[in-house]
Amino acid sequence: MLFEHKALVLMYHRVAVPDADIWDIAVSPENFEQQLQFLQKKGNVIPLSELVKGVADGKLPKNVVAITFDDGYADNFLTAKPLLEKYRLPATFFIASGNTDTEAEFWWDELEHTLLFAPVLPQTYTNMPGEPAYTFDLQHETQLTPAMQRVHCHWDACAEAPPTLRARLFYALWQQLKPLPHQAQQHLLQHIRNWAGWAYAARPHYKAMTAQQLRQLSQSPLFEIGAHTVTHAALAFHAKAVQVQELCENKQQLEAITGTEVPLLAYPYGNYNHETKAAAAEAGFTAAMTTEEKALRKQSHLYTLGRMQVKNRSGHDFAAQLGTWLNKR
Ligand SMILES: [Zn+2]
Repeated sequence: MLFEHKALVLMYHRVAVPDADIWDIAVSPENFEQQLQFLQKKGNVIPLSELVKGVADGKLPKNVVAITFDDGYADNFLTAKPLLEKYRLPATFFIASGNTDTEAEFWWDELEHTLLFAPVLPQTYTNMPGEPAYTFDLQHETQLTPAMQRVHCHWDACAEAPPTLRARLFYALWQQLKPLPHQAQQHLLQHIRNWAGWAYAARPHYKAMTAQQLRQLSQSPLFEIGAHTVTHAALAFHAKAVQVQELCENKQQLEAITGTEVPLLAYPYGNYNHETKAAAAEAGFTAAMTTEEKALRKQSHLYTLGRMQVKNRSGHDFAAQLGTWLNKR
């Protein structure tokens, strides 16, 4: 049996071929289709809600897998949905609702585009007054060269140190931005935009799903909408009241859009602390997903369920990755 009596949740983000994929979160449509073909043939794919119910009731189904998507990129609707429908496979989409019905990119995409791909940047970056003192000299890297562009396109930020000065500055700013309260994050982003001084235009293929698309998704018996906070907050960095507010507001927004209950949550960045688990329960969620790589068990804690991040691999390599993964857990 493929899943060896285990229950497994897969985590996707994008089905697309983006300009760069430094976080390794995009699977190409071709590879995604091959992965689905494999899952349809070998796996028993069930809705995440059924799996969670199994954990809650102490009757976990075996040899099963659930498919999930985080963030709410428009390619989930435009590219992943038709393929999931073609193979009749269920999936759950966790949505950071702050970008719904806007043209904006998620902040990490805009930061990546600006720092790694702007044709020209000023030589010296300095934080705003009031921020921790931070200055960075880009030296000879103010102009983007074709060679530098190639290096950035192939950078795997999860596994490799920043390969250029621009990448070092990008990573330092990403680390500064991630834990900030939303307002402070927006301020610093605006400061970075002003500093970069390029006429930034959001890329249409980096957009989030619209409310109309979310509604359509939720109306299909195959698909479920889940919560992922409003602003994609790294919850553990915030006071509990802020965590509860992020979760309640996101849940209400998604329920208003879809007209259906939204009982499942995925923590942005997989980031949580003991207050987050309590906040999730208080906000009315019945279970929450992390990014910790572990299979589900009967005794799994409902607010720290594990998932496996799927990489951009062919069906054959995906099968091998699953095999290795399941052997380890
Ligand atoms: Zn996310």
